[in-house]
Amino acid sequence: MQSQPVTDHFERKVAILTRLAEVSNILNSTLQQDALLAHLMDAAAEIAGAEAASVLLWNTTTRELYFAATTSSEAQMKLLGRPVPHEGSIAGLALRENRIVQVDNVADEPQHYNKLDEEFRFSTQSVLAIPMTSKEKLIGVLEVVNNKYGRLWTEEDHNYLSILAAQAAVAIEVAQLISALKKANEELSQIDKLKNDFIAIASHELRTPLGVILGYASFLKETTSDEVNEHASKVLSSALQLRRIIEDLTNLRYLKEGQAEIYLENVPLASLIEDVNRDIATLAEARMHTLEIRVPQESPTMYIDRIRTGMAITNVLNNALRFTPPGGRITVQADVRTRDEIWISVTDTGIGISENHLDRIFDEFYQVEDHMTRAHNGLGIGLSIARALIRAQNGRIWATSPGLGQGSTFTIALPLAQ
Ligand code: ADP
Repeated sequence: MQSQPVTDHFERKVAILTRLAEVSNILNSTLQQDALLAHLMDAAAEIAGAEAASVLLWNTTTRELYFAATTSSEAQMKLLGRPVPHEGSIAGLALRENRIVQVDNVADEPQHYNKLDEEFRFSTQSVLAIPMTSKEKLIGVLEVVNNKYGRLWTEEDHNYLSILAAQAAVAIEVAQLISALKKANEELSQIDKLKNDFIAIASHELRTPLGVILGYASFLKETTSDEVNEHASKVLSSALQLRRIIEDLTNLRYLKEGQAEIYLENVPLASLIEDVNRDIATLAEARMHTLEIRVPQESPTMYIDRIRTGMAITNVLNNALRFTPPGGRITVQADVRTRDEIWISVTDTGIGISENHLDRIFDEFYQVEDHMTRAHNGLGIGLSIARALIRAQNGRIWATSPGLGQGSTFTIALPLAQ
């Protein structure tokens, strides 16, 4: 028959191992490091039969140890953040000498730091301090205090607590990584905001002088001799190109989801096409393109944001003009497809798009041509802006092309008014 103490010993062992396995499970399944550390401390206290447990970390700046985790009692948690001297504390001794320090009676240990005991009216009697390492660097100490059952800690306790100390080190490292990541993320958003503000301000500032250039160039073109007129045309066409780029920059903010303020209303197709035609006819003429518009006899009414849809169609039309050699044909066609949808398509006779690029051209900053050798200017955002604007009003946009050199068609599907 087994004697009682042996059975007790095994039961205790099983309980400890179960607790350790439970901690490992939690360690693998949570990213909430604070809660995890508190749990680890509770487990450490329980396994060591101690009144409390804590982790003290080494602060490389202040060169002190401070409480980073404690058992989850309210009184213990008041210790969080409190410093403990490196020289003149049991935790400091364990860290300095990188060894387990066990003090069974602190009254006999001059290194014991008793200031906190006085402040928190706590009476420390025994301490077991286990150094913690992370990637072979000493980072702090796991400490348990006051053996509740009046027994002395044994080598077995040292071993169990060393396992918990290693787990706590991992949890702390993960916590530090997460907080560094969060910080980096915040900094990135800050930089992103600064960049966006800068682009908004710069494009706004560029617009005013450009307006003056456009005005004078148009005036000169209308009122002067043939030779000056020709120069004025060149200035005008470059200024128009510049305007398009500045508009893209101004509209960059629409790329961020939810940033486009959408105002939906009933808009007759005819009036939308009129707006677009007004914007684009001069440019088409300048490139000697034929612009053909085919709309249904009876103008249907759409339920859209007039300005944003106009911007999207203008972007697509601008591309058709640019990617079609002079003298091409650009066709704008509108068809009522279903009871609740109209398709507006822009077809050109230009350079065409190979199949593998058809989706990607809608991605931000994507251009088919290599930016070092390309013949066309632009920022690679016109189509992404068009897609964001159309999607924001529950529409769709896509491109088709029979192949390189055979032109392209861009189609925008929009909701009809009901
Ligand atoms: P970008 O201002 O640089 O032209 P976009 O987003 O408007 O940027 O267009 C992205 C790319 O899609 C263009 O650089 C071009 O390679 C291709 N593309 C767009 N429209 C056409 C078109 N009508 N014909 C051929 N390629 C086109």
